[in-house]
Amino acid sequence: MLIDSEEEMEENDISKAVEINSSHVKVIHLLLLFLFMWQSLYQISNAAFTLLLTFFKQFFSLMSVYLGLSTLHQLSEVMPSTLYRAKNFLGHPEDNFKTYVVCPSCHKLYSFSECCKYENRKKVSKTCTFVQ
Ligand SMILES: [Zn+2]
Repeated sequence: MLIDSEEEMEENDISKAVEINSSHVKVIHLLLLFLFMWQSLYQISNAAFTLLLTFFKQFFSLMSVYLGLSTLHQLSEVMPSTLYRAKNFLGHPEDNFKTYVVCPSCHKLYSFSECCKYENRKKVSKTCTFVQ
């Protein structure tokens, strides 16, 4: 498979399209399945999950240079770096989970619609109702 979609080309250097074989896609597919299961099992936030994806992509890229392994470079090219791309990679762009905003001080849950208000026609965040 040759990476040639516009979105992938924006992230990667256009001049270095990499020949990717199906085993690379299978390895990343397996890794992503495990990571999504791990995220769900241990209730890992989307932000932490995205950080881990970015870490894996950078780690594969760095190790490919350090160890001189082109296979790791190809894995880094296949590895998605965002949650959106990871879900697309697995063919599940949307999930059925309801997401909440969590107050970092008191851990109260809010829906997204409860978290914003308009001041002078500008959208701003509300303050937690438990903050004193
Ligand atoms: Zn709070």
